[in-house]
Amino acid sequence: MESWLKFVDDEKRRLIFGNEETFEAAKAYDKKRTVHAGIRGKNVEADKTMSVWQAEAKAKHSFEDACVYINIPFCQTKCTYCGFFKNLSDASLIDDYTEALTGEIADAKNTPLYSHGKVRAVYIGGGTPGTLSAMQIEKMLKAVRESLPLSNDCEITFETRTYQFGADKIQACVDNGVNRFSLGVQSFDTKARRAIGRVDAGEKVMEMVSRLISMKEASVSLDFIFGLPHQPVETFLNDIHTADCLGVDGMAVYQLNVFEGGKMDEGIKKGKTEAVPETSRQYEYHSAAYEMLSDMGYSQLSMSHWVRGTLDRSIYNRFTKSGCVLHAFGAGAGGRTENYGYFVHPAVTPYNMMRAKGIKPVMGLSEKNIMSGLYEFINGQMDTGILRFDTAERLFGINLKSFFSPLTESWEKRGLVTVGERTMRLLPAGQFWYVNMTQALLDILELIHSQGVYEPVSDKIAAQG
Ligand code: SF4
Repeated sequence: MESWLKFVDDEKRRLIFGNEETFEAAKAYDKKRTVHAGIRGKNVEADKTMSVWQAEAKAKHSFEDACVYINIPFCQTKCTYCGFFKNLSDASLIDDYTEALTGEIADAKNTPLYSHGKVRAVYIGGGTPGTLSAMQIEKMLKAVRESLPLSNDCEITFETRTYQFGADKIQACVDNGVNRFSLGVQSFDTKARRAIGRVDAGEKVMEMVSRLISMKEASVSLDFIFGLPHQPVETFLNDIHTADCLGVDGMAVYQLNVFEGGKMDEGIKKGKTEAVPETSRQYEYHSAAYEMLSDMGYSQLSMSHWVRGTLDRSIYNRFTKSGCVLHAFGAGAGGRTENYGYFVHPAVTPYNMMRAKGIKPVMGLSEKNIMSGLYEFINGQMDTGILRFDTAERLFGINLKSFFSPLTESWEKRGLVTVGERTMRLLPAGQFWYVNMTQALLDILELIHSQGVYEPVSDKIAAQG
């Protein structure tokens, strides 16, 4: 049962187990090692991508639930910490893009893959979906509602920042089915906002949030980042308090990732940007937020998302974290079928050109790993903070409790989890490290599956140390 240990040398052991010599929760691992936990599939050869995709799109499918992701790859300005920025907004480029995107969505009607099952959640993200005009938003949402098999209670999320997201755009959203707004606020503190390249002052953001809440047409969830420049713990807690007073339905709190070589990393190195807390100090922010949100009666939908009441269901995140089929539309969007992961061409001009020829611009395809069902199960469970061993045994015939025991016993000793008969629960300290811990579980399974050939991932996303 402990046979996987034979594939783990000292370096891999440190990535998987973390710092076994310390009981200090803040130092349980060196730093976060990937944005999302996962195991990549095997790439389909480039010259076969299109034919394999076309066969998959036409094939008979058996899934019941699906989600949809639509990417709007434009932003008005680039935030210094961002690893997702693609294009500065440009009115004529956005116009052509909306035309192409609407066509891609409309084509779904005649594609067996997209007309199968029920779409339980649609997420319009980016970039900044609020860079579209009110008319473009309306056009895109009409195509979604006319061309995809949305369930009666389908969650339609519009993610945006508040800058230039005026009343006409908000109205276009709610008139065309948006029932959830996810706003990337990051902080209400104007000094912290300006340090990361945000334009609106905190007060303006608060006004916008209040306006959206008072409409009572959609749930409102805010994203916050902790560990920003000029953001002591008190400022971060003040953001949470302000959001609570404004009456939001949910909030997601994320730790800052400083991408090596990115704008923020360079700014800090050149002394132009204030240095940000190291990972072990980010832990203070996490535990303070955990205590405050629990104390205010919020409950956790995931390791980062807290809600009060039942209006913010965050269905998209819950379904997609557990491996649900995901239909992707728009340049740079990533999706998955039952058999493949795929992504759409990320550059707008080639994307538009391919759409003009009526082609779905799939650029990359990877075959799902034979173990992907189990990996997705673990990923989805860890994101809720509870890994059910009994369910894994029933679904996959594997006794994860005993299989993972060398690792989970070490975690338990270090105060990261509690292990019971049927479940492993992440304690608050474990919740801070849950991405590393989830990746560790997947790494072990993949090491066995590949007979030791697999190399655990270690991305450069915590340049602050
Ligand atoms: S608005 Fe979002 S996607 Fe655009 S640069 Fe800022 S963080 Fe990145």
